[in-house]
Amino acid sequence: MASPAEGGADPNTKKDIVLTSTPIETFADLALIEPLQRALIADGYKKPTPIQQQAIPILLEGRDMIGCAQTGTGKTAAFALPLLQSLYHEPKAVSTKCARILVLSPTRELAGQIHDSFGAYGRYINVRRTTIFGGVSSQGQIKAMARGVDVLVATPGRLLDLINQGRVCLDEVDAFVLDEADRMLDMGFIPDIRKIAAKLPTDRQTLLFSATMAPGVTKLANTLLRNPMRVDIAPESTTADTVKQEIMFVDRPAKVKTLLELLDNGIYKAIVFTRTKHGANRLDGQLHKGGVKAVAIHGNKSQNARKKALEAFQNGHLQVLVATDVAARGLDIDDVTHVINYDMPDQPDAYVHRIGRTGRAGNEGIAISLCDSSERHLLRDIERLIGKSLTGGAAPPPMKQGHNDGPSAGKGFNKKKPFKSHRKGPKSGEKKPWQASESGKPSGDRKTEAGGEAKQKRRRRRSRPGQPQIKREAA
Ligand code: AMP
Repeated sequence: MASPAEGGADPNTKKDIVLTSTPIETFADLALIEPLQRALIADGYKKPTPIQQQAIPILLEGRDMIGCAQTGTGKTAAFALPLLQSLYHEPKAVSTKCARILVLSPTRELAGQIHDSFGAYGRYINVRRTTIFGGVSSQGQIKAMARGVDVLVATPGRLLDLINQGRVCLDEVDAFVLDEADRMLDMGFIPDIRKIAAKLPTDRQTLLFSATMAPGVTKLANTLLRNPMRVDIAPESTTADTVKQEIMFVDRPAKVKTLLELLDNGIYKAIVFTRTKHGANRLDGQLHKGGVKAVAIHGNKSQNARKKALEAFQNGHLQVLVATDVAARGLDIDDVTHVINYDMPDQPDAYVHRIGRTGRAGNEGIAISLCDSSERHLLRDIERLIGKSLTGGAAPPPMKQGHNDGPSAGKGFNKKKPFKSHRKGPKSGEKKPWQASESGKPSGDRKTEAGGEAKQKRRRRRSRPGQPQIKREAA
């Protein structure tokens, strides 16, 4: 059946959507205001990514939206740009302790990045913004909120604390964004999110972004969003084509040695993932003993230590960031040449997120997974999720019990050294991740008109003449 985006009717929806305009190729086609376009030029963005092409027109209309997209696809700009545009079109004094746009993020690091992105994209318009997250004193956050802000980016726990203390008020929120909703679910934030959402005005625009649509995320979306449009950019389980994936079968005791050999073999900037915080600390120590400049980040490290580690890694002062999955999502670190799964992830979707830390924004990357005999089932789960074999065959080859595979066994080591070219940083590939692996079309789910006078008003004020037409038709 042709997808609704291709003109086919989805029998489960009352309305259908057909994109009738000429293809959106530039930010000008998206009817973004000049100061935003100027900021994008300053950032070197030449054309919108597929999530931006699809999401921006919907969001400029004031619609609710579910965006199913991998990190690295440009989803932050996809929501930040239209929301900034709405602030620009409707300047309004915000009351003390209030915010007009609330973005919830699972981690402090991601919150910081989103906040910075609003700053970068909104540099030519006057936007007051701040972050709220745990692990640091709340005094500065309380002070920033005392004046009221346009954009508040927060993690759920601390935000709820400050709301309960009467330091933050959500009465004036026009737009609510839930980023990395699946991660929020994994981290147990859903009850907090529900409490926060209960304090928001009912007449608001709500956006939910998630790399995967786990059942819990769908349930959350059903309760928080009204008649949302859905945009699917990458299938839930896709890995970017810009990431070359390698598996090495290594017995656990040989993993450190194997890793040190790999790191000595031309790896420029790698994130090495461990399953536990303790494992990250231990590996950090072992790498130091092996002469590798590394730092571990995980949830037990202070905010300051995490920030310093990320900065040092970002600036090229460290070869390796040892991380637990807390760093797997959303972090946008330039030029990560390699992701190494020292421990295979327990959850197959974590694999997708981990390796998405490399091969970003047009660069190429390599993901190497060190898989021991106890982790073979995890590898199989990953292959099932991403729908391809990572070992060359139809299924991973069986591993003999007690067999010492050693570092030279398996695929990709000694036979072939794929790591040479990255000493000087990543090559700039022709192909962008968003050109490689996306379906790029709205899925057509839940395409009913949003109701309500206020919503209509919002739509009118955000849409501008010349904006590409989105035509809705009854199925
Ligand atoms: P995100 O998925 O929001 O984490 O974005 C991933 C990276 O892509 C970030 O470094 C952005 O600055 C970059 N990016 C986002 N949109 C574009 C674009 N249209 N052109 C080039 N780079 C972009």
